[in-house]
Formats: sequence, structure tokens, C-alpha cells
Amino acid sequence: MNTITPSKTASPFHAGEHHLQRQLGVRESMEQFGSKVIRDYLPEQHQDFYHHLPYVIIGHADSQGWPWASVLCGEPGFLHSPDPDHLNIHATPVAGDPLQHILQPGAHIGLLGIDLRTRRRNRLAAHITESRKGTVQLRVDQSFGNCPQYIQARTLSTSAPHHSSPETQLIHQFDQHTRTFIEQSDTFFVASYVPAQEGDASRGADVSHRGGQPGFIRVDNTRKLTIPDYPGNHHFNTLGNFIENPKAGLLFIDFERGHVLMLTGRVAILEEVDHPYYKGAERFWTFTLEHGRWIKNALPLRWHFDEYSPNSLLAGNWAHAAAAQKADTLRDQWLDYQVVRIQQESLQVKSFYLQPPADISPDVKPGQFLTVKATIDGKEHSRTYTVSSAPADTLLRISVKHEQGSATIPPGVFSSYLHQSVATGSTLQVKMPRGEFVLTEELQKPVLLLSAGIGITPMLAMARHIFQEGLRTRTVRPVLFIHSARSAGERAFYDDIMKLADHHPAFKTVWALSQPEHYLVLGREYDVQGRINKALLQNHLPTTELDVFLCGPGGFMQAQYDALRALGVADSDIYAESFGPSSLQREQTEDPEIANNTARRAVVTFHPDDVELQWSTEDGSLLELAEAHGLHPPFGCRQGQCGECKARLLQGKINYRTPVNATLVDQEEVLLCCAVPADDPASDTARVAVKVSEH
Ligand SMILES: Cc1cc2nc3c(=O)[nH]c(=O)nc-3n(C[C@H](O)[C@H](O)[C@H](O)COP(=O)(O)OP(=O)(O)OC[C@H]3O[C@@H](n4cnc5c(N)ncnc54)[C@H](O)[C@@H]3O)c2cc1C
Repeated sequence: MNTITPSKTASPFHAGEHHLQRQLGVRESMEQFGSKVIRDYLPEQHQDFYHHLPYVIIGHADSQGWPWASVLCGEPGFLHSPDPDHLNIHATPVAGDPLQHILQPGAHIGLLGIDLRTRRRNRLAAHITESRKGTVQLRVDQSFGNCPQYIQARTLSTSAPHHSSPETQLIHQFDQHTRTFIEQSDTFFVASYVPAQEGDASRGADVSHRGGQPGFIRVDNTRKLTIPDYPGNHHFNTLGNFIENPKAGLLFIDFERGHVLMLTGRVAILEEVDHPYYKGAERFWTFTLEHGRWIKNALPLRWHFDEYSPNSLLAGNWAHAAAAQKADTLRDQWLDYQVVRIQQESLQVKSFYLQPPADISPDVKPGQFLTVKATIDGKEHSRTYTVSSAPADTLLRISVKHEQGSATIPPGVFSSYLHQSVATGSTLQVKMPRGEFVLTEELQKPVLLLSAGIGITPMLAMARHIFQEGLRTRTVRPVLFIHSARSAGERAFYDDIMKLADHHPAFKTVWALSQPEHYLVLGREYDVQGRINKALLQNHLPTTELDVFLCGPGGFMQAQYDALRALGVADSDIYAESFGPSSLQREQTEDPEIANNTARRAVVTFHPDDVELQWSTEDGSLLELAEAHGLHPPFGCRQGQCGECKARLLQGKINYRTPVNATLVDQEEVLLCCAVPADDPASDTARVAVKVSEH
């Protein structure tokens, strides 16, 4: 094999890596970034890091061109860098490891120094300049650091177990034991190789780490695996090599027993996302086994598991993907969710943690709500509650304010039931998450989360989501959170929000209290006494080019909307949700066509009660008209998003005051909460008849 003299001017990446970087639109930035971080020597920190390691992973290719990933162990110091250009390895591969035949001058290897306890890792591409008496000298071609994403923390066991002699067992397909072992693995190492070329340090062998939740590798049959590719550093060292040479070597370590499973075979990068429900995967690749071997008792080391990487927990696995797919097929059904935990969040707010049925994993977007149904005093009721947990959290949570009523106002039906009758172990009927008040991936501007009272629930989900996604994708946008409550006692989630703010400099908070407790210190437990107004917004907004999410009581929302508009925030950048009838008057008024088409007067008949009512513009929606006259049609979100108020349209035509989710109804159905009678050109008084669903 050729010995490479690295060129200082050449790209640190080869054509395969360029191809994928270009596909992702990061080609130019990666060239600049790579030239800075990929060095042709070992910085002192790396020299020192390798020196302290008792194990190292090596990627290489055998004489037939099959890549393999191997592990070498030794007393710390077995990796020694006498100068920044060289690294010496004083170790012999275990019997049965193809690496035995590779460690010869001229061979190119990839090396991954990894400390599983601290999750630190550094990569190296090198060629062998000398090999004698158990010592191999490497000349560094490329070296760079890697971040700790997806590395599960493991600590070396303190007591070294008795080390039996290694036993090699060749495999040509996955038997049940191997299959189960792979399916339960949370870590493996992948070697790839593009034949070296004189003067091009970007080519040669590479080895890298892959981690996820157990079950992240799918065993398709006795020879084939499908593996997700999570967002990484955009170097594409592994997948770029696959493009040039579609072969890989996989190494699985049995960390508790010291056995290793070494596989080599062909790979293919899948053009399409293999499973749209797989959380966190950017693409997938397959591996088809050509040669494999178990080496039992290969290692003198043992590790014990400490914890999953936070990134692994944010990504899915194949079982989760199947559960998300199943959930989607049950979108319109009521399912029994179990209340597994209840927590008091403030004087009036309790959180309910909900466990969906087994094998169901609803896909929830930050800001969406659940529709919840229960039989209360012999009558069915349903209400909608925003999911206050983030999509990546393990349990779904709703947080409910108890509408306690007063001397003259009766308490709220559903919130009283939840607060007073539901206990851990209770079951609630729940429909899959819905709603359009969602922080989507397309929105990329800085975010303002602006809420009052219980309107904090979607903000909590969105804020948590932004920072969880930031961890996964390594980009976060600035978030300003402004919240108004009456007092600290009535303010829910203060600690949760402040914990996020403590960890994320891009997250700024402003807490306003209108009636703070006398013992609170302004500037410590809250930032503003009084209400949120235009001056306050002006003081804190980093820019008027932002995506605003607004939720709270009607008066609060209107005041904030008007202030934001006056400050120059675009109407289309303000997303609003009200927990009651939507009352926000936007400057951009109704679609003029709809306004012209809407009747000014109508007669509406509600079946099956046969109640005929006069309607005029001031009466609002058909739902509001019915309620004002003592009828009680079922309802949920009151925003045309959940479908609970769906009724059959028996006569006439209707318009929707605000956009509704049109997929919820067919031509002969109507969502009462947003519907108003349409004009009838043939008559002064339009006639509409609807048949309301029974509870
Ligand atoms: C999209 C969406 C998301 C939501 N998310 C949340 C959330 O995260 N958390 C949350 O707590 N709520 C949320 N809500 C509100 C929730 O759906 C319920 O509306 C709320 O819990 C009140 O329901 P209830 O059955 O307790 O009150 P209801 O019985 O429906 O009564 C509503 C209110 O009217 C009062 N009232 C009752 N009778 C009278 C009367 N005769 N005269 C005057 N007043 C009366 C009650 O005291 C109560 O305050 C959300 C609503 C929507 C639309």
C-alpha cells in the first residue's frame, strides 16, 4: 500500500463526503470548518488523551478489501505519542481478530480513542510506518475531536474478572442468540474504507461510534440489518466512505462479558427515509453480512452501564416507530390512557401524567392538545387540554387549572372532576393529539412565548422542545419567554422554566406578577410588578422579526396582539390560541369573500330537539347560539380542530368564521363551534338546520 504524504492544501474530505455534504447544503461551510478542525498532527490534548486509555477501537481492511472494526486493550500508556506526528501502539490483537494480519508498514488504519465513562472521543486516520516486537508506529494523517452525542456512559469494572482464553466462532448468518444480542445493543462501532491514494489524506480507513436506544438496529433477516443515521457532525466520514466503497465492518462489544461480535459486509444507503415514524433519523442504511465471527473472552476488560446519552433518549427505536405508526391508524378513536402520576403545580393547577395503551406511541407536536372524555354524574363530557410535556418526554402530561367558580358561578365540570375524582390509576378516554397551534420545524426565527395564567402549558412544551431539539441537531434559536400570573402561588411551572433558563443561555425569561406576595423580592422571584404592556415588550424584544406564540385569557391576548402589531410584528408571525371561545380580533379581518357570504339574519333549527332559534351576527357561532338558549351540544376545543362539536347539516349552507381542520368533516357535516349561517341570495332570512350528535 502507498504511504501518504498529506497535502496541506487539499480538501480534508473526499468525493463521497463532498457528495453528502452537498446534499445537505453544508458543503462550503464544512470545507471551511473541516480545514480548521481536521489536523495532520496530534494536538497535545489528544496525545495526552490517548496516553490514558486502556482500550482503543481500530478500523482497517483485510487483504480482500473487507473492512473490520477491532478493539485493542492494554495498560494505560499502551498508546503513546512520542511527538505530535506519531502514535505508537504497544499491544497485540487477540487471537482470531483479522487485525493480526494488518499491522504491517504501509497499512492504513482508522483509530477511535473513546472514554465511555466521560463520553470523550477523538478520531485519527493514520498509516503504519513501523511494526516490530508488539509495537506499531503510526504516522498521523488526520486527527480531530468528536462530540459525545449518542455515547452511553459506561464505567470500567474495578475488579478484573478471570480472563479465559479467547475462542473464535465463525458465523455466516445471524442465529437467534446473535440476533437478540444485536437487537438489544445500544452501541456498536463501524469501520469503513476507501483505498488510499498518494497525497490524499482524506482517504484510507475510518472507524466511528454509533449509539442509540436498545432496539435501534433492526434485524431484517438472517443476514441483513437496517440502521438509522442520526444527525452528526456533517463530516460524513462513514457514509461518505460508503459512497466510495459500499462495505462496512461492525464491532459489537458484550460489555459485561468481554466477548466481541465482528461482522463485515456490504452496505447501502437508503434513498428514502425507511420509516417516517422513526424519531430522529435523518436517513437509514442497510448492512448485509458477508463474514462474521464471535470471539468469546476476547477482552480482559468489563464495563458496567451508567446511563443513556440524552441524545439516544431523544431518538427512537424500531418498536417506538411501530407504536407511532399504530397510533396514527387510531387517530379518530377514543383510547384508554392511564393516569400514572398526579402533581400539584400551583394553587389551582394539577398535572396528570398519562400512559397510552401498550404499543401505542402518539406523535405529538409541541403546542397540540388532547381531547379527553369522561362520564361525570352519568353524562359524557369532553374537553381539550394542551400537552404540557415535550414530544421527546417519556410520558404525556396535561396540566389543568381547576375552575373553582364562586358564590355565583358554578365550578367547571371537567376540571373539577379531574381535580377531585381522578387519582393515580384512573383511566381517561383520550383522542390523539391535534391542533394547529404548533411550533413547527419550518419556523426558524427567534421565538417569543407570551402567555398568562394557564396559557403557560403550550409554552412549556415548546420551550422544552426547542432545547431538546437543540441538543439533537446542535442548533438553537433564541427564545424569550414572557409570562403573567396573578401571584407566585398561582404561577405554575416557575421552577421548570427557570431550570431550562439556567441551562440555556439562549433562553431569556420575564415573569410579571400583578399581585405579588408581600414577601417576594422584585428582581429575584419576579421581574415586573403589574401587567405586560407595550413598553415592557419593547424593552425586551430582541427584534420584531420573530415568531410569536400567544396564549391566555381573551383580554390579555387582545392587548398583547395589539401591542405587538403596534411594535411592528407582522400579523402572520403571531400565532394565537385561546382556551375558550376565540375572541382575538386580528387586524387582518376575515376573508372579505366569507364576510360577504355570511348571512346577517337566519333561522337555525337544532335537531333532534327541534328547537328553532333566530340568529343574527351578534349571536356568534352556532354552538354559542345553542348554548345561549340552554342547549348543550358536545364540544371540545371550540376552534374547529378537534371535531367534537361535529353535527349533520340537514338544510342550508354555512361559513366558517375562522379556518377549521377540514379533514374532520365531510360535505354534509358542520363544526358548530366555528360555523355561522351563509347568506341565501334567494331569501332575506337564511335557513339552516343541523342534527346535533347526542353525548
Ligand atoms: C385548545 C385548548 C387547549 C386547552 N388547554 C388547557 C390546558 O392546558 N389547561 C387547562 O386547564 N385548560 C385548558 N383548556 C380549557 C379546557 O378545555 C376547559 O375549557 C377548562 O378546563 C374548563 O372546563 P370545565 O369543564 O372545568 O369548565 P366548564 O364547565 O366548561 O365551565 C367553563 C367556565 O365557565 C364557568 N361557568 C360554569 N357555569 C357558569 C355559569 N352558569 N355562568 C358563568 N360561568 C359559568 C366555570 O366556572 C368555568 O370557569 C384548553 C382549551 C382549549 C380550547
